[in-house]
Amino acid sequence: MTIEQRIQELREELRQHNHNYYVLDNAIISDYDFDIKLKELEKLEVENPQFFDANSPTQRVGGEITKNFETVTHKNRMYSLDNSYSKEDLLDWEKRIQKMLGTDQIEYTCELKYDGASINLTYEKGQFVKAVTRGDGFQGDEVTTNIRTIKSIPLIPNGDFVSDFEMRGEIILPLEGFNKMNEERVTNGEEAYRNPRNTASGSLKLQDSAEVAKRPLDCLLYQVVTDERKYKTHFESLEAARKVGFKVPKTIVLAKSIDEVFDFVNHWDEKRHDLPYETDGVVIKVNNLQQQEELGYTAKAPRWAMAYKFKAEQVSTVLNEITYQVGRTGAITPVANLEPVQLAGTIVKRASLHNADQIEKLDIRESDTVFVEKGGEIIPKIIKVDLTKRPADSQPTIYATHCPECNTALIRTEGDAKHYCPNEFGCAPQITGRIQHFISRKAMDIDGLGGETVDLLRKEGLIQNYADLYDLKIEQVIPLERMAEKSAQNMVAGIEKSKEIPFEKVLFALGIRFVGETVAKKLAKNFKSIDNLMMADFETLVAVDEIGDRIAQSIIDFSNDLGNIQLIDRLKSYGVQLEVSAESLEGQTDKLEGEIFVVSGVFHQMTRNELKKSIEDNGGKVSSSISKKTTYIVAGDNMGPSKLEKAQKLEISIISEQDFIEMIS
Ligand code: AMP
Ligand code: ZN
Repeated sequence: MTIEQRIQELREELRQHNHNYYVLDNAIISDYDFDIKLKELEKLEVENPQFFDANSPTQRVGGEITKNFETVTHKNRMYSLDNSYSKEDLLDWEKRIQKMLGTDQIEYTCELKYDGASINLTYEKGQFVKAVTRGDGFQGDEVTTNIRTIKSIPLIPNGDFVSDFEMRGEIILPLEGFNKMNEERVTNGEEAYRNPRNTASGSLKLQDSAEVAKRPLDCLLYQVVTDERKYKTHFESLEAARKVGFKVPKTIVLAKSIDEVFDFVNHWDEKRHDLPYETDGVVIKVNNLQQQEELGYTAKAPRWAMAYKFKAEQVSTVLNEITYQVGRTGAITPVANLEPVQLAGTIVKRASLHNADQIEKLDIRESDTVFVEKGGEIIPKIIKVDLTKRPADSQPTIYATHCPECNTALIRTEGDAKHYCPNEFGCAPQITGRIQHFISRKAMDIDGLGGETVDLLRKEGLIQNYADLYDLKIEQVIPLERMAEKSAQNMVAGIEKSKEIPFEKVLFALGIRFVGETVAKKLAKNFKSIDNLMMADFETLVAVDEIGDRIAQSIIDFSNDLGNIQLIDRLKSYGVQLEVSAESLEGQTDKLEGEIFVVSGVFHQMTRNELKKSIEDNGGKVSSSISKKTTYIVAGDNMGPSKLEKAQKLEISIISEQDFIEMIS
């Protein structure tokens, strides 16, 4: 046997043992024998560096240090999940998707919702190449080196499977390992970690991968993403993934009807505390992959999946004080400062009170004993007051009348639940908040400038608004505390680079109230430049699809403000993109103006998403279900029979992919 063959043999053997031990929980050799083989392999690899392989079992002990985790764009967006809290919610969902698919023959996969940190593992030619966190769903941080140390993740899946794919899963810290870590910390006089989820997610960002290797992390997989059409159902793809080495929990089941889904939910609502890891609900997915494709996605989540959240845990504690926070738009949020209490694995000290109405409705007062619940949000909420424990001298809460930061009298316009501090340009958290929003990832994405630095620059009087950023000079920044020359250069370079950010993101960055990411995209597409947008009147604005009165009024208020007009003029003079670039207009026509398309089936020359984009680029609209308003159906292979029937009944033109391509060319 050659040295290379021996190396391959040892790698293969050790891989198998890792799988037996970490995935199947069924070791067939002793730790000692495993170590002997690993040592032999290590020695051979050191002596023969030409056979190095990043996916060798020897590489799983870590040791590499990552200083900066690189931001990587996901090939396929990592969506969030829609939530449901009751059986009625689930029945509504079923009705919706039955209608869209035009059938009541829908099968579901039921899974637990593993509570950890989501991860996307990329494999090329059957080999692990990189791991990226979910981040904001569009891009995340590359944590490949750290992920490699998690031994239940196969680096080279073994057996019949697709070859280029992504595996989606959850990095978790099983309870036993978590508790052991904490016992050790307490013995060493360190503070215990609060909960497994945050600890798992924090572990991924440790700089020293050897430190990660020591933590008992695990990875539970729940989705195969691939362009290869090898599997017809989600369940089948997961079973195949399990066979080639991925840890796909055995708890997944197939449900033939929503009633069987309820059985699954009921079972785990009760039994989830017996699991070796934490869960916060179940996830129900349409099993048939073609049906999944038909259903597609909303702006934030797949239509083919639904999370069902188990009822949240509640505790009672004393509310010590109500304080007020000022957001970047000047909105005031009352905060309940609580006597610290343990709830669903974390220690809770604060809860949001939303607004004045909420306080009044629940009659919440300082010194009250209140019930606190942890729902989906990170910040828990107060459910009700325990009136039996109210002190005799209790006084009703008088809501703040002045801004806690700048002492300006608060205002509240009719129909608005929130109070606002109107001192837009003079109130510190508003100034800082607006600039922080401006530089954030989904907005101007300015590298080298963080939220704290913004606050520092403001305190030093160097910036008052986002336009001031573009006037910053390296020499002004270097003298600041904690600011090295290199970081100052990075910051100024990052600001310079933001001049390339496309208009739709700039529009979002401006922080116009109610103009979020999606609305900004819509507006950019319709108005094409900030000048057109700021000159538009109310009627023109509300005529745009999905732009309502509230958004329109807010844009008009923004446009009429002299301060804003000056800011925009300055941004223009610096060269920030305030109109849609010629490049992005390329390929856009209004050939399909007024047409409403439904897309159904499997396509060959373009993907379904390319097809939809092409419809929109040419001025058409895409709708997800057939109605009287539909003008065309683009039908691929295997269009659902009931859809076909409906289309015929309504006499809607059905065209092929080829017809469509001719239509726009
Ligand atoms: P949310 O963060 O509440 O929007 O829920 C979406 C997240 O749930 C995903 O990013 C996953 O990380 C996580 N998740 C946990 N278990 C599952 C599962 N079985 N299927 C899909 N997502 C899951
Ligand atoms: Zn203020």
